[in-house]
Amino acid sequence: MNTPKLAVIIPCFNEELCIKTTVNRLFEVFDDLISKNKITPDSYLYLVDDGSSDSTWQIISELHAGDNRVKGMKFIRNYGNQKALIAGLEGVHRLGCDCVVSIDADLQQDEMAIEKFIDKYMEGYDIVAGIRNDRKTDNFFKRTTAVAFYKTMGLLGANIPMNHSDYRLVSRRALDVMDLYHEKALFLRGFFNEVGLKTAYVKFDVKPRMAGESKFNFMSLMTLALNGITSFSIVPLRFIAVLGFLMALFGFCAGLEVVFEKLMYNDSPNGMATTIILLCVFGGTQLFCLGIIGEYIGQVYREVKARPRYIKDVELD
Ligand code: UDP
Ligand code: MG
Repeated sequence: MNTPKLAVIIPCFNEELCIKTTVNRLFEVFDDLISKNKITPDSYLYLVDDGSSDSTWQIISELHAGDNRVKGMKFIRNYGNQKALIAGLEGVHRLGCDCVVSIDADLQQDEMAIEKFIDKYMEGYDIVAGIRNDRKTDNFFKRTTAVAFYKTMGLLGANIPMNHSDYRLVSRRALDVMDLYHEKALFLRGFFNEVGLKTAYVKFDVKPRMAGESKFNFMSLMTLALNGITSFSIVPLRFIAVLGFLMALFGFCAGLEVVFEKLMYNDSPNGMATTIILLCVFGGTQLFCLGIIGEYIGQVYREVKARPRYIKDVELD
């Protein structure tokens, strides 16, 4: 296989404090890899500004003016990290590259792992997924919700490896395949795991954030998780149907029993408390199930509208 042309995409949302250091650091990695003849000298960085309100885009433009290997695009508003990643993948697919690595702007993922990614790519893998060694840098809340999410996804049949992150290499072939998937709410971690291309895993260390604060909050993590589930599995809907059937069966049998007791022993059960508890349990279950169905209808609704995934403001290439 020829030496690959590498593209590295970096989603950036209000990352003015990190970008410069990150770009310089990645160019050091590039120099090292070029000297080892592992990537071509025209390898480049592609920064996606996800509608930042600080000077992120200005810094990207300056870097681009100084070095043409810094390329990028700017969204007209904030669309979230997944959309920024998708835009980056589509962008480098247009510009051309043999393989692409996505990494966070705060360089929390160990950039030295890129070399291992390339080695795996050269062995013939189309996808090389980074797996975190641990979650030490995450707070308790993020750690527990992440574990719960991966466990749930596993139960639902989407086998995403635990502690997988969006730090991964994908080949041009994987980008070609991605082009065939038109769904708007593409959940990349699930998608690349599911398409069936040859996949390798590489472990890497997570560092604390370089500067600034995490750009994810409770709502954005919930949205990511719900989208991951509803776009990848219909098991919850089946579960609801089975649950509903079992409940109805139980109700029917209990009803029969009451009628039987009334006829045979003229004895009817009473108790307000029981009634209230049952009402709450069944009412609550029904509302919960309706909520799950609602999530899916929402997903259908968003897909059916077929709005663009994101709108590009400016592109530097
Ligand atoms: N990010 C983004 N859009 C958003 C939120 C985050 O492009 O709406 C980017 C962010 O700039 C960073 C990456 O996604 O490059 C991961 O975000 P962050 O480091 O804040 O998340 P954490 O490491 O806390 O999970
Ligand atoms: Mg981070």
